[in-house]
Amino acid sequence: MPYFQAVIHIKTIADIQIYRRIAKCSVTFRGKIGMFKVELTRLTSSNVVELGTLLAYGQRVTMLSIDIQALSITQCFRLFSNLRFPNLTCFSTQTLPHEGLDKFISRHPTMSVITLGPCNRVGPHCALQSTGALQQLEEVRGEFKCISNLVSRATHRIFADVSTTHEFGYPELFKKISDVDAGVRLLSMEFTPSDTEVMPRLAAALPGVSTLRLVQFIDGVTALNAQSCRHFTDKRAYRQSIPVDIPGIRWHGAGT
Ligand SMILES: [Zn+2]
Repeated sequence: MPYFQAVIHIKTIADIQIYRRIAKCSVTFRGKIGMFKVELTRLTSSNVVELGTLLAYGQRVTMLSIDIQALSITQCFRLFSNLRFPNLTCFSTQTLPHEGLDKFISRHPTMSVITLGPCNRVGPHCALQSTGALQQLEEVRGEFKCISNLVSRATHRIFADVSTTHEFGYPELFKKISDVDAGVRLLSMEFTPSDTEVMPRLAAALPGVSTLRLVQFIDGVTALNAQSCRHFTDKRAYRQSIPVDIPGIRWHGAGT
């Protein structure tokens, strides 16, 4: 008999309460939960406890995608403090504060894909810098400063963004890649063409890259002052792909 895994999509507080009641009563249902996808705008403290209880029922979960707007660091820490999924391989969030995630990520060394949103910490530091390398991490996406410490020898695909304060953290990322001898084959990263150091450093640190995507980052103020960029309205619009010409490296433009 085929084995089915359920995706539990939580979009309202009522969803949390309904699924929590079902999971509490049915061992069979709990065993079928393969993924939680949570998309909520706001949670009270009691809702955080309810959601944590529901998530804890998913002991066979392999994928977790959680986005909650306006979740405080304290709430985030409380939500994740007791969660442990023996089979978790993929974790994704665009909204959660990283301060509440460091211990959760450290507890799940089996994760192979991690996607992180913008860092909530201004400046060069992030709570995720205290985590160790994840030995099975194959793909990671996030700001340079947030993902550098997670990279391990197993990491093949990296999607690196500049920080919310426009800081380029690629020297730390490249150093980590060299230190752990990661076999990175795909690298997508933001950079600025005025930085003449980036390409020599990239070539030295990542000799095995076969797919490279460089996304030109133009500071918002600069872009707004430029005649050709006046129509741009958000940070993402300031980014554009540019081709690179490096022997042995195949060019992939953004969106491919
Ligand atoms: Zn961060």
